[in-house]
Amino acid sequence: MTKRLWIETVGCQMNVLDSELVVAALRRQGWELARTTAEADAVFYNTCSVRQHAEDKIYSALGRIRLEKQQRPGLVVGVLGCMAQKDQELVRKRAPWVDLVVGPGQLHRVPGLVDDVLAGGGPRLEVSLDRTGGSREAIAQSFESYDPDRDPQMRPTPFQAFIRTQTGCDKFCAFCVVPHVRGPEQARAPATIVTEARKLVAEGCREITLIGQTVNSYRWKDGGTTTRLGDLLVMLDAIDGLDRIKFVTNYPRDMTDDLIAAVRDLPKVSHYLHVPAQHGSDAVLTRMKRGYSIGEYMEMLGRLREAIPHAAVTSDFIVGFCGETDSEFQTTLDLVRTADFKNSFIFKYSPRPGTKAFDRQPDDVPETVKKERNQALLEAQAAVSLAGNLRFIGTRQQVLVEGLSVREERRQSQSAVPPAEGAFPGDSEQASSPESLAQLTGRTMCDRIVVFDAPLRLVGRLVDVDIQAAGAWSLAGDVADGLADAVPLEHLLENAGEDTPPTLYDIDLTAASSSGRAGATQTGATQTDTTPADATAGA
Ligand code: SAH
Repeated sequence: MTKRLWIETVGCQMNVLDSELVVAALRRQGWELARTTAEADAVFYNTCSVRQHAEDKIYSALGRIRLEKQQRPGLVVGVLGCMAQKDQELVRKRAPWVDLVVGPGQLHRVPGLVDDVLAGGGPRLEVSLDRTGGSREAIAQSFESYDPDRDPQMRPTPFQAFIRTQTGCDKFCAFCVVPHVRGPEQARAPATIVTEARKLVAEGCREITLIGQTVNSYRWKDGGTTTRLGDLLVMLDAIDGLDRIKFVTNYPRDMTDDLIAAVRDLPKVSHYLHVPAQHGSDAVLTRMKRGYSIGEYMEMLGRLREAIPHAAVTSDFIVGFCGETDSEFQTTLDLVRTADFKNSFIFKYSPRPGTKAFDRQPDDVPETVKKERNQALLEAQAAVSLAGNLRFIGTRQQVLVEGLSVREERRQSQSAVPPAEGAFPGDSEQASSPESLAQLTGRTMCDRIVVFDAPLRLVGRLVDVDIQAAGAWSLAGDVADGLADAVPLEHLLENAGEDTPPTLYDIDLTAASSSGRAGATQTGATQTDTTPADATAGA
């Protein structure tokens, strides 16, 4: 009999990709996605450890699933990903009803492990070595790159895909748990990445986002040749049928001139660069062990803007890091007011066991102060984002149409009839014809969200949109070729439902969404860190 899987994913794009691949592997063994946990034979949580809140959320979800497991003892409960690697045995101490604990370096074992549990083999823990658990080579080997064949059905949309360029991280910023839970930085071979991209494009994929913890640190040595991210972009840009290439996340010191030139010169590479500054003060950057001064960051930004004046740059910031004074926070505020970031993702510092800051620097900024600073920085960024977006009014932008806007999704899901299993967003009864007009959303080449009314058949295509209105987090306009001439623009933006900033991190989505596709609820993502202000994503 067919087995059914429910999987909930929190965290970054790496986790979204990992979930896609786990689901694909299980589907090849005959599994299908469940619509609810009640009809699932296995419930998996793909977890994040970057902040405490993301972990708390999973432990509460585990508390809820315990009740279902009491009713159906055969239900397999799995904790996958970063929290599994970080907490290891602790997961089963806190939630003894968990059957599987599998770190991000062991995901290839999931199908076999589920079979073992179903066959009565008892609980299983599979994690990689700790960063001090052996030689670098042994540790690296214990984190296996997990990149099996893809399943187009499992992506948020069939025309967009993530490709991993490297696993792990070696930067060891004082606040960050990632190097500890995702292991040493290991690049994938350029040929493997290009082959994967070609396959995705052959399946209809038009936009590829390369992902790595510090993607621009990519370096692959083969004999006498070294391939870096700029070289990889050249190879990918040559793939026929591919329209757009993006890459996240960049480390400021590795934003080299050759990479900037590649972004400037390659027609398919998006002029959108996420380069987290984290803070505006040299003293705090030193305490964070970020490895650059604010002067160096500004120098990098200057080079970038000189080469690509219209590039959209986004940043991450942590507020309330250990010892942050009012005047130190002020430097971050000043940076946001002057650096013209398209957007910033803002996080309250969350101490993470295992990191240098946790061991050596007290978490001494009160929660109320963190909240105030978070809010102040969000407001500063919102004003800058709005001013940036207003500059687009009256321009024509090429938009890759991604699907229904948040408002349209909400509207359609409220007006009853759920879409059939395996349907796309937009495939519902209310709007089933390709000619049906709906409020759609897409992104410009510089990653700005645009909403417009247009026929559904445009989903997955590039269209020109004349921008007529702007908010802090999105633009609105009319499709330029008259396809949607009859549609009044009034209040399009106000009604778009794109008023909360979209997310880059802390994506909270389920594979078992109403449309039956992994990640299909991505546009409705919620932040795990309480307020939009706390994880403010780039429009
Ligand atoms: N290297 C990856 C993932 C880092 S986590 C990337 O950059 O995409 C994403 C962001 O979370 C970081 O840039 C940082 O701003 C924030 N972050 C990391 N550790 C944190 C912590 N302990 N507390 C609060 N925010 C944190």
